[in-house]
Amino acid sequence: MSMNCIFCKIIAKQLPTALLYEDEFVVVFKDIHPKARVHLLIVAKEHIQSLAHFSKEKAALAAHMLLLLPSLALAQGLEAGFRTVINTGSGGGQEIDHIHFHLLGDNASSKLSGEK
Ligand code: 5GP
Ligand code: ZN
Repeated sequence: MSMNCIFCKIIAKQLPTALLYEDEFVVVFKDIHPKARVHLLIVAKEHIQSLAHFSKEKAALAAHMLLLLPSLALAQGLEAGFRTVINTGSGGGQEIDHIHFHLLGDNASSKLSGEK
């Protein structure tokens, strides 16, 4: 746990947040500023800074996070598909330095690119 990390606080239940899914390795909750009708964050319980900090030892965790996405999307009614975003580092627009995947669906692409 990193003391100043918002996601660590959510995982430690110090910041009340409704979880849509939780297991030994991850929590899933809604993004506080959704960029699409469905906008979930899949967050590793372990405080790893970013995708650039994943090592081969974390391959099982990385696969676990990725493989959860289709079933989470289906549970949100996204039968037609979904979009996955992983921002990495300041150059990639990462705001929270705790590894997470964005799952977006329904108008995700148009809203992300600023089109209507
Ligand atoms: P990043 O830019 O790091 O990939 O994405 C971080 C995301 O976390 C942003 O989309 C932001 O809206 C979301 N976020 C930031 N703080 C909170 C929070 O306290 N609760 C929730 N649910 N989402 C948050
Ligand atoms: Zn953290």
